[in-house]
Amino acid sequence: MNRSRSEALQRRAETLIPGGVDSPVRSFRAVGGNPPWFERGEGAYLFDADGNRYLDCIASWGALLFGHAPPAVTAAIAAAAARGTSFGASTPGELELAEAVARAMPAVEMLRFVNSGTEATMSAARLARGCTGREGILKFSGGYHGHADLFLSEAGSGVATLGIATSAGVPAGAVLNTHTVAYNDLEAVERVLVRQRGKMAAIIVEPVAGNMGCVPPTPAFLPGLRELATRHGALLIFDEVMTGFRLARGGACERYGIRPDLVTLGKILGGGLPVAAYGGRRDLMQQVAPLGPVYQAGTLSGNPLAMAAGIASLGLAAAAGVYEGLETCGLEIERGLTQAIAEAGAAARVQRVGSMLTVFFRSEPVTNFDEARACDTRTFARFHARLLEQGVLWPPSQFEAAFFGTAHGAAEIEALVGAVRSSL
Ligand code: PMP
Repeated sequence: MNRSRSEALQRRAETLIPGGVDSPVRSFRAVGGNPPWFERGEGAYLFDADGNRYLDCIASWGALLFGHAPPAVTAAIAAAAARGTSFGASTPGELELAEAVARAMPAVEMLRFVNSGTEATMSAARLARGCTGREGILKFSGGYHGHADLFLSEAGSGVATLGIATSAGVPAGAVLNTHTVAYNDLEAVERVLVRQRGKMAAIIVEPVAGNMGCVPPTPAFLPGLRELATRHGALLIFDEVMTGFRLARGGACERYGIRPDLVTLGKILGGGLPVAAYGGRRDLMQQVAPLGPVYQAGTLSGNPLAMAAGIASLGLAAAAGVYEGLETCGLEIERGLTQAIAEAGAAARVQRVGSMLTVFFRSEPVTNFDEARACDTRTFARFHARLLEQGVLWPPSQFEAAFFGTAHGAAEIEALVGAVRSSL
């Protein structure tokens, strides 16, 4: 596959943009080779600067559920753009999208729009601290909640991929009250809550972990967190930036039947534009400025283009059969890949929840970050390169999930399974 134009763009970019990328997860450092530069997306496919076509299994890191450039979303953005791009004042789209979110997620009684998942989680943590008068935050190793200082210890996603324990530039004081335990380990959670009695503001969790690869919660984990948080007076924050509107219309809250105190949303919420939100219990959200003392603001928050894209995206999500279709698609991919792994005798396993999935290069189940880290990342890198050569764009890290959507039909699933079979 000729990628000379992409390579030239990458070389030029590396002189101006660190690593040539605006987010480290886009770099191919962990797997080797050069990332393709894309010019166009259509449905399940991306087209690079050399005209090569790729079956996209990254879906903008989960932000896309309806493929690239779905007409309902692009038309809504174009119509909004013609009316003006930003007013720095309230627009009806904000209310419409807020109502759509509240309908889909009963735990979200009030919400505030922001521009990125990072802002959403950072603001939710500030709110939790402001409301409880406590400073402790409990997170899980391999969990990623954006790049705010307080979350950058033992984080997943690009932090894990690049092998960084805690980012340089994070003051020791910023992570002093961040406690990290293993995912799926309720006893460890309880130990922290007991040891830090009266000091823990919140537990923040990816209800299905996606940033160490796809790691489902054990059946007891999320109900256990709910119970422990309540018992110890800490708030439970579901970081649904990745899982919201993906695992069900009501996200992991709906899928697992849990009502957290606060929820963070992003990705699909914006239909591919920069939108995120935090929301939850009314009494908590009423502490946000201008109603309450917890300050949070944003020049472009609730941007009318982004709201239009979000409304169109959630409109598509509300159509009948969307999530049943995604479940079937995910199941067929899981079965096809599992069979291919068995036929090849590869030391690998597929872990999936709904339309998010990881092929871990390890035979035993992966239930936490330590187990994910024990995977054979060299074999993963070879797998990734072979898929790319066959026109399949797979996340360039063992510690990321692949995402599928309504644009992945029977032909795409068959092509993917075939490509995986010859890549193991
Ligand atoms: N939380 C989770 C669970 C995420 O997956 C991500 C991004 N992958 C974030 C927060 C941060 O979102 P953003 O990249 O929009 O800042």
